[in-house]
Amino acid sequence: MASSNTVLMRLVASAYSIAQKAGMIVRRVIAEGDLGIVEKTCATDLQTKADRLAQMSICSSLARKFPKLTIIGEELVVWVDPLDGTKEYTEGLLDNVTVLIGIAYEGKAIAGVINQPYYNYEAGPDAVLGRTIWGVLGLGAFGFQLKEVPAGKHIITTTRSHSNKLVTDCVAAMNPDAVLRVGGAGNKIIQLIEGKASAYVFASPGCKKWDTCAPEVILHAVGGKLTDIHGNVLQYHKDVKHMNSAGVLATLRNYDYYASRVPESIKNALVP
Ligand code: AMP
Ligand code: MG
Ligand code: MG
Repeated sequence: MASSNTVLMRLVASAYSIAQKAGMIVRRVIAEGDLGIVEKTCATDLQTKADRLAQMSICSSLARKFPKLTIIGEELVVWVDPLDGTKEYTEGLLDNVTVLIGIAYEGKAIAGVINQPYYNYEAGPDAVLGRTIWGVLGLGAFGFQLKEVPAGKHIITTTRSHSNKLVTDCVAAMNPDAVLRVGGAGNKIIQLIEGKASAYVFASPGCKKWDTCAPEVILHAVGGKLTDIHGNVLQYHKDVKHMNSAGVLATLRNYDYYASRVPESIKNALVP
């Protein structure tokens, strides 16, 4: 299927530059100072002008370059989060923010691009901001240095702004040496591949397919594993439910250690 491979590589290459452009929009909105914050479902579920502009930019660029995407859409689906970590974006925790473009083929996440617009933002006024991490299953992941948490250390990363009792109970059950609470699904996967955290544990609904698609590919491309809290592989068909109702469990290494410690009561509370 040479032609579908060609489409995939064109799509990944375009997603790389499209995500970079979206990252520039994310920086511009902060620089201009008017975030235009709207509450979606509640005070922790926000949308800003940057989410809206980045979404429009990504979708119109994709539509322009791939007018037939909807025709092949049953097989090839693109999951877009124009701004992941919006809550943290509105609070100035800018390095938590990413732009996520994930590509699924027949329901399986196979390629992903993560732009981190504020990578390097603490490096001083002359630092070049932003980076793009990308990966294709079977090919690898690029744009970062793979690093592992020291052997035997259990460092859990979880939500900063969408916590509840299930989330904290599940984290506690992992017997962690340390717990990091940061925003963004993309950001947490970056922590896993850069040796800052050993497991991303989120025992709650809230996270959507566009949050996990690109990050899961990057993690899988370097030998990691992302599932729901039961251990089920996530599906990305175009008609799939958007919500990851049974939460997220992701690790670079030692997946079984964390999976075996999820309490039955928490599994029973989270229906896929
Ligand atoms: P977090 O780890 O809280 O940054 O969540 C990762 C992604 O899932 C972000 O895009 C959040 O907006 C989304 N998310 C997680 N929990 C919720 C929730 N309770 N309501 C809305 N969005 C959520
Ligand atoms: Mg998001
Ligand atoms: Mg978002």
